[in-house]
Amino acid sequence: MNRQAALNRLHNEKDWDVIIIGGGATGLGAAVDAASRGYRTVLLEAHDFAKGTSSRATKLVHGGVRYLAQGNIKLVKEALRERGWLLKNAPHITSDLLFVIPVYSFFEKMFYGIGLGMYDLLSGKLSLGKTKWLSKKQTIQHLPDLKEKGLAGGIAYHDGQFDDARLAVELAKTAVEHGAVIVNYSSVTGLLKHGEKVNGVTVQDKLDGTTYQLNARAVINATGVFADHVMQMDEQQHSDIVTPSQGIHLVVDKKFFTSNHALMIPKTSDGRVLFAVPWHNKVVIGTTDNEVPEISLEPRPLQSEIEFVLQHANKYFKTNIERSDVKSMFAGLRPLVKQKNAENTAVIRRDHTIIVSKAHLITITGGKWTTYRKMAEEVVNQAVITGRLPKRTCITSNLPIGGTEALYPRQDNSLLHKDFEIQEKDIAFFVQHEMAATVEDVLARRTRLLFLDAGMAIAKAPAVAAIMARYMNKDEAWQREQVEAFNATAKGYIL
Ligand SMILES: Cc1cc2nc3c(=O)[nH]c(=O)nc-3n(C[C@H](O)[C@H](O)[C@H](O)COP(=O)(O)OP(=O)(O)OC[C@H]3O[C@@H](n4cnc5c(N)ncnc54)[C@H](O)[C@@H]3O)c2cc1C
Repeated sequence: MNRQAALNRLHNEKDWDVIIIGGGATGLGAAVDAASRGYRTVLLEAHDFAKGTSSRATKLVHGGVRYLAQGNIKLVKEALRERGWLLKNAPHITSDLLFVIPVYSFFEKMFYGIGLGMYDLLSGKLSLGKTKWLSKKQTIQHLPDLKEKGLAGGIAYHDGQFDDARLAVELAKTAVEHGAVIVNYSSVTGLLKHGEKVNGVTVQDKLDGTTYQLNARAVINATGVFADHVMQMDEQQHSDIVTPSQGIHLVVDKKFFTSNHALMIPKTSDGRVLFAVPWHNKVVIGTTDNEVPEISLEPRPLQSEIEFVLQHANKYFKTNIERSDVKSMFAGLRPLVKQKNAENTAVIRRDHTIIVSKAHLITITGGKWTTYRKMAEEVVNQAVITGRLPKRTCITSNLPIGGTEALYPRQDNSLLHKDFEIQEKDIAFFVQHEMAATVEDVLARRTRLLFLDAGMAIAKAPAVAAIMARYMNKDEAWQREQVEAFNATAKGYIL
């Protein structure tokens, strides 16, 4: 997957079957689906792949225990099936993780035990393992850092875990293997119309400033919380459909939570769930759910959210986490679809929505990482109808992600070495085969150092810039600009 090769094709080939705007989970999934069905497919991402919400998830491939409690059985069942398929199709980026819910009364044990038993039953043949009822002693053995006071026992259940930004890059590579053109730093700035119908896009290359146009039979808007912005390019009078809901995570050292299993707190003071999940040798704690007035590519955690997460973690962890113990914090915006009469964003359903405008712009938003494949299948089915493309069957439920081993240099899942040393050959690979164009691409999404230890990422930035400059033929001024830009972003990840 090489950026220049992609641009060369876009320069020479102007007519496509499907153009997808947005390179997050939804758009990349759609690109894999459309390309693997044999449609001539282009995906345009304004920044880097997964720069938006798709690098900021809790990293769970899950049916959503919380949605079960909300009674949304259809969503849970669908997500559990998708979980099974994703773990099968991308075993190098996903894993099975045991989650433990501590319980403090017999009633709680019955309630969560039966609920989680049902969760497992709903996964059918794709079950990752049976839900188990744990005694107090077994619960402490599973979670040795848990406060013991009042503990009655626990429930252990299985769910999936993954690296979100890595999966995004692997989906991009998979789409390219199937013939798609995928390009980052390419912003759609306008829609083209033939008569009343959308038939293409205007694109600006954000690295060299050039603009060009492309035509397609169907245009899919998969821009997450930015969906309204693209819909406005189609209809000036458009009224917004997305309610952005912010969630944050705090990342701390393993010493606070030494277990290899995850902790699930089933009911926070605002009625949500909170996770502590071991990830790349750190622990990710979150999340929150707050409607926010502004849509930003770099949303910042609110002080109230930070306090909320710390307070809940400290209620359960033996060793108190201070603000200074937080190695990194990150916020993401859920692209929830507006729902009349919703009291707050936590009660808005997580299902996705597909809207076809009068001018045939196809917008898909909502949903979650876990269900990206199903969303992609549905939106490409819609593109086939809208764009009058020849009908072909979706094959992604059984399609390996990431292609051949040669496309993925390591199997250790992290691309980060002991003491966070990143090797030159990895950086060269990211630049030459994964379209990494900035220091942030390498430190935030090709590796996950910014999300794991923001201070360490800032320390590593000059060395990464120097190596990238060698492979990209850039001068010292470029390196300085890159490091400054990275530091400005990374400061927002330090508490
Ligand atoms: C805090 C939090 C935790 C979550 N945890 C989980 C979890 O554990 N498991 C799970 O399954 N789901 C989880 N989710 C949900 C999941 O992350 C999202 O549903 C998913 O990432 C949304 O992907 P998307 O592609 O729709 O949006 P995005 O990832 O935001 O992608 C949209 C892309 O469009 C690009 N774009 C915007 N405008 C343009 C333009 N004009 N031209 C070109 N490109 C453009 C943006 O740069 C962006 O990259 C979580 C969400 C949040 C916020």
